[in-house]
Amino acid sequence: MSFAHFIGNQHIRDGIQRALKNNSLPHAYIFHGPEGVGKRTLALILAKSLNCLNLKDDCCDRCNSCYKIDNGLHPDVRLLLPGGKVSISIEQMRGEIRRTIYLKPLEGRKRVYIIDEAEKMTAEAANSLLKTLEEPPPNAILILLTTSYFSLLATIRSRCQALRFSSIRKEELKNFLGKKYGYSQEKASYISELSEGSVGIASSMDPQLMVDQQKKMVSLVSQLLNGDNLKEVLEEASRFAREKGEKWELDEMEVKLLNLGGVFRDLMVLSSGGDRNLIIKKGGEEELARLVKKVDKEEALQIVEEIYHTLAALKRNANRKLLAEALFLHINLIARRRRIASK
Ligand SMILES: [Zn+2]
Repeated sequence: MSFAHFIGNQHIRDGIQRALKNNSLPHAYIFHGPEGVGKRTLALILAKSLNCLNLKDDCCDRCNSCYKIDNGLHPDVRLLLPGGKVSISIEQMRGEIRRTIYLKPLEGRKRVYIIDEAEKMTAEAANSLLKTLEEPPPNAILILLTTSYFSLLATIRSRCQALRFSSIRKEELKNFLGKKYGYSQEKASYISELSEGSVGIASSMDPQLMVDQQKKMVSLVSQLLNGDNLKEVLEEASRFAREKGEKWELDEMEVKLLNLGGVFRDLMVLSSGGDRNLIIKKGGEEELARLVKKVDKEEALQIVEEIYHTLAALKRNANRKLLAEALFLHINLIARRRRIASK
């Protein structure tokens, strides 16, 4: 498999390939996201491309180096697989990584260390890794793979460039919407992002209604991040949870939550200096740019995850008003804590 043949998460693939071409790869990546979306495959493609004998910014899959990497025989490419319930131990970390990472590559151009299920590292192993990240080796790159981003130490997270992989279904869904409804690329990708890969939700979304809804959500986010009055926050929550919908076929609160998640995801992209093309919301970037100072990337990601928990609870018929209140207070608290800390 090469960059050219990799399916799904195209923006991530393109970003990595661009960094490879420009020689601007970070010294450590975290690939996180659900199972089966190509995290390990893409890590191996990068390892091959860094060492391929025929190509510079992709891999040929035919040369001796590509062959060795694909078969786990390349001396400069290490794939650590904890497997089952076993943790990555301090011995493994010291033995496999610390011992070799500062050395020149034996055969290739760059040493590559891929740590699968990185959340299973023991605390000692993680601390040993942290030392490596503090003095980045010149001829090596580390790639941590995980389904559970927040299980990694914050100190490790902050020293790696994190890339969030999403389910392949969204890509498929985008193509489906384009074909079935004739939506433009942009519209189709906007809706498939917001519907979190659900065909049912996406098919019932009216793009214009979604755009209107999203505008409302940006101003709601602004209130939640700037608000000082808890009573007002709770009133907003109560309005948010209101039963009766407009023209929605879906539960209106579900749609609002998806949109709210979309706003924070955009803030996440903006605050990490990410590619503006990844922003779901088109238009209203000025308002978003003002909001981006209110939360950092990690806080925005936490909020996005919180929103998805709320969505899941809503589907289990939990009390909607209590859900909205808890979520809004949580968001408001994060922004408040930040304001106090910056004073
Ligand atoms: Zn090759």
